[in-house]
Amino acid sequence: MDESSLQLCTEDFFLILKYFMKKETYQFSYDVFDSIEELDEQDAWLLNEAREVTSSAYAPYSNFNVGAVAKLSNGEIVAGTNQENASYPVGLCAERVLLSSAATLYPKIPIETIAISYNNTMGASSHPISPCGMCRQSLVEYQERVNHPIRLILSGLNGKVIVVAKAGMLLPLSFGSIDLK
Ligand SMILES: [Zn+2]
Repeated sequence: MDESSLQLCTEDFFLILKYFMKKETYQFSYDVFDSIEELDEQDAWLLNEAREVTSSAYAPYSNFNVGAVAKLSNGEIVAGTNQENASYPVGLCAERVLLSSAATLYPKIPIETIAISYNNTMGASSHPISPCGMCRQSLVEYQERVNHPIRLILSGLNGKVIVVAKAGMLLPLSFGSIDLK
């Protein structure tokens, strides 16, 4: 077998592998609104609360004050803000402060919707905020533990608003409790 026929064999081998490979696509859609005025009354109220609660954030290092407010299925409202620390990794995001509070105050009660906003005191606050990777992981687990999707309303202090129907959509192929079984 000369070198050229050997190369052909290798190419054939990869062609066969490609034939058996499956390509899958992940995509999701979300709603975009130009401003809070386009939301219905309940969503607008929740987002306003999230915007206002940013004033309770403790963010002296980043100056990035985040507020999150949840409406639970029993009608209760729970809020969270980011809490930073001089030892930076100790700091907590608003979303995980909120989830911890909700789980403690109202265990097993599903969260219907969370509105998240921020006040960047060093810059603009008009671009919709989105949960960080760690918070996405926490949101996914919360959805699983109460078996209920969490709807997200994402915005700044003004400007566009993004609504995501299920927080888990932001973390495809996520790691979860099923992987530990
Ligand atoms: Zn986070």
